[in-house]
Amino acid sequence: MAEKPKPQEPNPAENFTREELEAIAREEAERNLQNENLLAGSPLENLPPLEDGKKLEQWWLNARDVNKMLDLLETKNIKDFRKIRLFAVACCRNIENLKKQPLQSRESVDISEKFADGHATIEELNNVPAQPRVYSVSVSNYYNDIETAYDNVNDIARYCAMDVGLSQDSADAARLARDNERITQSKLLRDIFGPFAEKPIIEPSWLSWGDGAVKKIAQKIYDDRTFNDEMPILADALEDAGCANKEILGHCRGPGPHVRGCWVLDLLLQKDQGAPPQKK
Ligand SMILES: [Zn+2]
Repeated sequence: MAEKPKPQEPNPAENFTREELEAIAREEAERNLQNENLLAGSPLENLPPLEDGKKLEQWWLNARDVNKMLDLLETKNIKDFRKIRLFAVACCRNIENLKKQPLQSRESVDISEKFADGHATIEELNNVPAQPRVYSVSVSNYYNDIETAYDNVNDIARYCAMDVGLSQDSADAARLARDNERITQSKLLRDIFGPFAEKPIIEPSWLSWGDGAVKKIAQKIYDDRTFNDEMPILADALEDAGCANKEILGHCRGPGPHVRGCWVLDLLLQKDQGAPPQKK
């Protein structure tokens, strides 16, 4: 069993350079891998040929291999920095109630999430107290470089699953918890990026119906994170507004999980395609 990393309080007095932080994060990742001898339980799954759209869609809908799912998004040239960041945020939020404190601060996750939607600046992001994993959460995708963004989010998801494992008391329980966390992450990723097939068209009449009721409900769910309680209410409103799209209604009434970045909410709220963060 791995030696448990000591929880560290972020220390604003420590001003690491980016290079130093990257080196620390790399060392930490290697140590974790050596100790655990596992890639945090990502089941290995073979990808169908990229030109076989149908099989690929089927694979995506059932995939549990987060690593490979992210690879696929990257291969398909999906450059939505906002959604990629929101997946990292979702992975972090999903473990914020662990018994043993995960090695990242809520503050960095909050700011990263705000940044994704344009409510925080690069400066605020960079001012999050230095700490290796916090660093990787907070400034991932800082670069206008999609490859780095995917690498970072991949690491973050893996770290989160490792934290779940480390919070367990035995090696067997750790493995199981890690595997389950990876499965949850695959669902989060699907919630954000949605089906691969072309997304349904949102009819303007749905959005204008009832004085914009659909959009208001969607916005409230997004702001208050009342996904579980209110997504079915959103489905009812959509139906009343004339929507009969099975994919959309099924997603709202399905088991979830839903998070910020949820593909249906994003379509209804007409969220932008996540332009890369501006340079310093
Ligand atoms: Zn959703």
